[in-house]
Amino acid sequence: MNEKKPTLQEVFENYKLMTPLECFENLGWEYVRRQDDSGWDDIRCCDEPVESFGFFGTESLRCTKCGKGMQLMTAPIPTSNCTSGMISYEKVEMPTDGGYGHLIISGV
Ligand SMILES: [Zn+2]
Repeated sequence: MNEKKPTLQEVFENYKLMTPLECFENLGWEYVRRQDDSGWDDIRCCDEPVESFGFFGTESLRCTKCGKGMQLMTAPIPTSNCTSGMISYEKVEMPTDGGYGHLIISGV
């Protein structure tokens, strides 16, 4: 059996999956790249720090002023105020480029 699994992008065909950097640029967010390249700090939108949420860490980011945000699709995805869903790693071909899979939840 060598069934071809759908890719994460195919599962979320109505969204454009991006790396975090591509998201920041598409959202017009400002950020400070860490010296050691391990991530980003001081992410800002509308001259305010962007709020972060997550069950295990920072999994979604949202500007409380304009509502623009992004969600890490390889982490639990909020489905309501108190529940979340999770991609089945067995059924979906996950991105290999660093495990990314962010998407913009509300628009530019
Ligand atoms: Zn904003």
